[in-house]
Amino acid sequence: MVMLVYSRAAQGICENPSCATPSCEKLWGEILEMSSSNQSPELSSCKLSSCNFSGAEPPVFKLAEEARDGEARACSYFSAHGVIETPCFMPVGTQASLKGVEPSVTARSGARVILANSYHLLLRPGLEVLRNYAGVRSFMRWDGALLTDSGGFQAMSLGELVKVEDGGIKFRSHIDGSALHLTPELAMEAQIVFDSTIAMMLDECVPSSSSHARCRVAVERSLLWGSRCSAFWREKRASSGTSSGVGGAGDGAGAGTGGAGAGMESGTGTGTGFGRALFGILQGGLDLDLRREALERTLAIGFDGYAFGGLALGEEQSLRSELLAALAPLLPRDRPRYLMGVGKPRDIAEAIACGIDLFDCVLPTRSGRTGQAFCFADGYGYGAYGYASSANKNATRTRNIRNARYKFDKQPLEEDCACPSCAGGFSRAYLHHLFRSGEMLGAMLLSAHNIFFYQRFMRSARAAIMAGTYSEFLKAVRAHDDDRQSG
Ligand SMILES: [Zn+2]
Repeated sequence: MVMLVYSRAAQGICENPSCATPSCEKLWGEILEMSSSNQSPELSSCKLSSCNFSGAEPPVFKLAEEARDGEARACSYFSAHGVIETPCFMPVGTQASLKGVEPSVTARSGARVILANSYHLLLRPGLEVLRNYAGVRSFMRWDGALLTDSGGFQAMSLGELVKVEDGGIKFRSHIDGSALHLTPELAMEAQIVFDSTIAMMLDECVPSSSSHARCRVAVERSLLWGSRCSAFWREKRASSGTSSGVGGAGDGAGAGTGGAGAGMESGTGTGTGFGRALFGILQGGLDLDLRREALERTLAIGFDGYAFGGLALGEEQSLRSELLAALAPLLPRDRPRYLMGVGKPRDIAEAIACGIDLFDCVLPTRSGRTGQAFCFADGYGYGAYGYASSANKNATRTRNIRNARYKFDKQPLEEDCACPSCAGGFSRAYLHHLFRSGEMLGAMLLSAHNIFFYQRFMRSARAAIMAGTYSEFLKAVRAHDDDRQSG
């Protein structure tokens, strides 16, 4: 099991454990509290005695790199709702629900952050209900961190029902046909009501295969919306009076430092949504120059983290990797990097190698509902946190549990998986039967298993980075993916 050692230095705080500088004392106290509530880190003793913390910017909402292997990095991200170890996979609960999986099960898998979609939440249950619950986390009984998208991507995928203009996105609800206008400000307001740990700016997402001219329009519009989101966020943060950080209006630090400077909420559970992080989104299709320009201009606006949008929409994996490898190193090292909507274990492994930290995808639950189970390859399972250097142990496969070969198979999906299905002793034969009989328990068990699998996969990737063997890990994932047989 990999135990992390949290040092004050890594968080940008002076290393004197008894330092009385108010900023040091307060920040370290809060970090300790977050760490202990997360129940994973062990704390180190501090060594130095001089205080060199400038007090200029709190470390919370920033990211501390703990290990690096090539561009792949293992970090701790100190979010408003707990420490998030990266690389991190965020399961998707579109409508404030991971389909068929209870939040307590999700938490047991090791997932620390989940994703929900603003478009759906805006329409149903709507802001009024969520305001009444002080946010999505409390509504759905999820204690961990929450990332919400801006709602733009789903609104724009409504086809004829949508009109995208510089002012925002006009669309009709797919539920009752009512007219809505999603502006950058509404996207921010909604995510504040949602009590999102990480909010995303409104952007215009176009498929990576779009023409250069179309991508240029999307980049300009996204920058325009990003500026408005950032301005709105800063104003709210400044006026909330709960920020102890520097993220006030007009702070505007330049490119390279990520100027938004997330403030830290002085209280917890206030439900004001402030002190939460706002991420910028980089568009630009597959055009490296356009992407680079978008990146530089987005950095100049300044966000708490940066996401690559408009990828994983059908482009070649190698092309995506080329782009990410060229662009990720241009981002500030103390800010999280998020590749939206990716994906399959192989795609995730490739992107980690390019320096990406955060991922999300509906695949674990969607596949679970159709009878596809993600597993490590036969005979190569390993413990929840363990990492063995033997390359083959990183091989993964999917099993279609409906396949007749499982009809008499008494084994669990995986021997050493702690999910409700495997640890509960349910056999492949029983799961096969559930799927063949259309019993909903089958989908629930497989979805839970897949959620657990993804967390194990990410922990393995992280452990490989920590051990300096990531290239070996990646090689194994690639090799097996190339000749993987489903069945
Ligand atoms: Zn399992």
